[in-house]
Amino acid sequence: MFGYSKLHQRFSLSTPILALVVAFVGLLIVMGFSLMRTATEANSVDSERVSHAVTNAVRNTVTQLSALSDDNAYWDDAAGGIYAEHAQMHVFAERTWRDTTAGDRAYDHIFGVDTDHQTLFGFISGAEAHGAITQYLGADSLRIVAAVTRTTPTRSGIIRTPDGLRIVAAAYVRPTSDNSVAVQAATQPRYIVMSSPLSRADLAAMGRDLVIGDLRHLDAPGPQSVPINDYFGRPIGYLAWNAALPGDLALARAGPMVAMATFAALLTLLILIGRSSDAVQELNRVAMLDSLSELPNRRALRRAMRRSTRNGTPMALAFIDLDGFKGVNDSFGHAVGDALICECARLATRIMPPGGMVARIGGDEFAILARGADADADINACSVALLDHMRQPFHVGERTMAIGASIGLAGTSAGCTDVNELMRQADIAMYAAKRSGKMCSRWFSTDLDHQRVVAQDIELGLRNALERDEFHVHYQPIIHAKTGRIVAVEALLRWNPPGRPAIGPDAFIPIAEETGLIDQLGRFVLRRAMMDAQQWGTTTLSVNVSVAQLRNPTFPTLLADILHETGFPVERLALEITETYIVYDPATARDVLDAIQALGVRLAIDDFGSGYASIGFLRQFTFNTVKLDRSLVADATTDKGAHAMVFASVAMARALGMTIVAEGIENEAQALFMRSAGADYLQGWLYASAIDADGMTAYLEAPVTLAQANQRAQAAQPLQALTQRRG
Ligand code: C2E
Ligand code: CA
Ligand code: CA
Repeated sequence: MFGYSKLHQRFSLSTPILALVVAFVGLLIVMGFSLMRTATEANSVDSERVSHAVTNAVRNTVTQLSALSDDNAYWDDAAGGIYAEHAQMHVFAERTWRDTTAGDRAYDHIFGVDTDHQTLFGFISGAEAHGAITQYLGADSLRIVAAVTRTTPTRSGIIRTPDGLRIVAAAYVRPTSDNSVAVQAATQPRYIVMSSPLSRADLAAMGRDLVIGDLRHLDAPGPQSVPINDYFGRPIGYLAWNAALPGDLALARAGPMVAMATFAALLTLLILIGRSSDAVQELNRVAMLDSLSELPNRRALRRAMRRSTRNGTPMALAFIDLDGFKGVNDSFGHAVGDALICECARLATRIMPPGGMVARIGGDEFAILARGADADADINACSVALLDHMRQPFHVGERTMAIGASIGLAGTSAGCTDVNELMRQADIAMYAAKRSGKMCSRWFSTDLDHQRVVAQDIELGLRNALERDEFHVHYQPIIHAKTGRIVAVEALLRWNPPGRPAIGPDAFIPIAEETGLIDQLGRFVLRRAMMDAQQWGTTTLSVNVSVAQLRNPTFPTLLADILHETGFPVERLALEITETYIVYDPATARDVLDAIQALGVRLAIDDFGSGYASIGFLRQFTFNTVKLDRSLVADATTDKGAHAMVFASVAMARALGMTIVAEGIENEAQALFMRSAGADYLQGWLYASAIDADGMTAYLEAPVTLAQANQRAQAAQPLQALTQRRG
């Protein structure tokens, strides 16, 4: 309702969840990076390791051939054979080495070279090589031979030969036994030179041994390769291989798993986000909602108003305070009170303007917000409708009860767009409505602010006014409609703060009720009035009793005590009670009123026709008197409705055996009309306004006329600006 779900759209993703998502994505990136880094590192570590292995393997091969050549050269037989004359040497060499070059041997070339680098013999792959060594192994082979000395008898390395890359090892042929030293010294050194190819097949075999794939020679570096230098330190290309890098391998293996794990984590995260954003939404919804009525709460209202302010949408606000709700709660219990609140919430929702909003902003306080160009008119119509509905009693379960409402209105049309200030204005207007008699609505105006200040002033002043003797009771005569004789007086409270103009009861009674001072004040009036009226013969004394006083369950006892204390004849006392009291809480009212009537005190229903009670409703009570409100009296001569209401009320009251008093008679026309309508008694300024006790005594003893007494009273108490006149 109220476009309320929109209120929550802003909460679809909360900050913590966003943070979680960012953190997760960040984690994924970091994880990805570190995985790649680990893989790259593993790759480079591995390729370094393989490079070493390949380099070592080649070096080993070279060393092995070197050792092998030395084995063959450092040997008495070899020394004997090699240093023998040519034919013998050749036979020896052929017998010893020719076949060793055949097949799958450690070397496939062997040559004998003398100190002048002449080729002495040569065998290649099991056959005699007839050419010079350089023809097969290139000139570089002799440079290796040249490097061999007596002290460094073997030299070996890789060289580029006409047959491709080859390992060449040269060894100085020499005997192992000492007796051959002479031979060695006498002769020019001779050498044997062995060579094995670094062929594709050899490299592949080396690769297999090292468990790396396709080890081969390349002229340019490959993705995985190691440079090789020849015997002289010159670069002669690269040894390359194809082994799968462990990092890549790990990535390839872990990849699908990581992807799956990431996917699962993402899925979980998404579900979590879904759930928690649901939860956040729910939390926000709950935080914006009144749990009892399920209406938006004050926070939600404020938020909606802020949005309207931002959009520049005109707004009007009604603050509604239920009157008499506390009584319902006290007498029927909280369950009934709760049900009544829900009933009111439904009512407010039904009558709220389109595009508006209803909120529960306190225990028995509601707010209605109207938005748009017609906001003022809408909220006005809405408050009229609400008050109309509230005049009908509510049904909660089997119970019927009536409550009232005071409505404060404020709108942006007056120039204020600040949300808090608008709320404050509606609040002030609501209190003003409460003070001006409830069941009405009031628009905020700046003088209400002033009144608020005055009210605070009054509240301060009221605190000590009783002790300071600032209150007085005045009496207004009530005369017999036919004879014109005074039959009763109504006690009316007066407050004269020293050094300030007198303040009317309409202004201070509601404040005394709010502050709880009314009990004391009420006691004072009853006691004072009974004491004053003691001496006024048979004249009835009518005293106003406020709703707040009657709510005090000890009131009947208190009344009995004062009657006893003052000795005032009970049959001369009447209490005036406004209809709001019985309308709010008929059941409790009936008990209290019964207790009062049981004392013998009569009861008058005051201000009848100003509120919302019908005579029919009053039927359930046994009031002795009905006082027609002066607004009804004032309108009856001109307004048809008021005219009819007066006649109907008189007829009904008559039927119920009640006497009828018409209040506020200010002119002869009103007096005439009320007499003809059937009023028994008349009260009003036409006869007298309220006069003090001495004035009343003086009049009743008749040395002065009523007019004189009245004049004296008028001079004594000028009308106060603060007194709010009704009607
Ligand atoms: P109310 O009970 O309706 O009292 C009658 C009010 O009408 C009095 O105003 C009276 O001065 C005024 N009035 C009398 N004749 C006329 C007239 O011809 N024309 C006009 N316009 N007004 C007239 P007041 O004294 O200012 O009292 C105002 C209200 O304050 C009373 O209305 C009553 O509700 C309340 N009040 C006064 N005294 C007490 C009290 O002792 N206790 C309680 N609880 N309420 C009191
Ligand atoms: Ca009265
Ligand atoms: Ca009255």
